[in-house]
Amino acid sequence: MELFGYNPPMLLAHAFVIAFGLAVGSFLNVCIYRIPKGRSVIRPGSSCPHCHHPLRPWENVPILSYLFLRGKCSQCGGRISWIYPIVESTTALLFYLLFLKYGFDTPFFINVVFFGMLVGLIFIDLFERLLPNVITLSGLTFGLLMSPLQSGEFFQGTQLFGTYNVIWAHYFDSILGILVGGGFLWLVAELYVRVKKIEGMGFGDIKMMAMVGAFLGWRYAWLTILLGSLLGALVGSIYIYALGKGRRYELPFGSFLGVGAIASTLWGQELLAWYLAQ
Ligand SMILES: [Zn+2]
Repeated sequence: MELFGYNPPMLLAHAFVIAFGLAVGSFLNVCIYRIPKGRSVIRPGSSCPHCHHPLRPWENVPILSYLFLRGKCSQCGGRISWIYPIVESTTALLFYLLFLKYGFDTPFFINVVFFGMLVGLIFIDLFERLLPNVITLSGLTFGLLMSPLQSGEFFQGTQLFGTYNVIWAHYFDSILGILVGGGFLWLVAELYVRVKKIEGMGFGDIKMMAMVGAFLGWRYAWLTILLGSLLGALVGSIYIYALGKGRRYELPFGSFLGVGAIASTLWGQELLAWYLAQ
């Protein structure tokens, strides 16, 4: 039996990944709102930010509740931010892209955690210019510990010591990723302070790139910095020339790095092959 060219169990898997992404996106909304305020992400449950009435289950369904309530609280009519459905649908789309790339292979589960953390960091940096340690440092630890289960395309086994255990090769590449990702940004930050006498980059960016390196190894950490810088330069020029903002306007560099890390994970192999062929 086939439905739209798929067999039913396959369709169920696709639907599961999207529902899972929406649910994680809903949890990420709580994290994005509460972590910068230093509040618990578990208790209490979600409530309206205007009248504080606790949300009932039907008011807390990703995207659907927002559409059904037309973006307004059922009690006080206060506006519900459109950021919530954006975060939920973005997370679902990213999880789905990971599923298309990896199926239910181990890299899917590792990178679902990675992408969840990245979405959190992208939006927290965008709103608060903050990259919380609770995400970057736990991500760094998780990425390093799980690196043997990560996709082989990121960890090709550095041949410095001849042939050796593939698990240690992955750990070695992950540690190299931490050093290259974090180290390069630390160097740039140091140069900025020495030459321009201003703090151009926070330690949050450095820790975030160390986390990206732990998940993706040194090659893709480098690609992430390249893509994030290009995106930052592009958005920065638009801000300065088109919108007339001052040069001192602080851009959310962590958000750009996050987008770069997502692109590196999903399409890094193709991007690197294209870049090296130029
Ligand atoms: Zn309300």
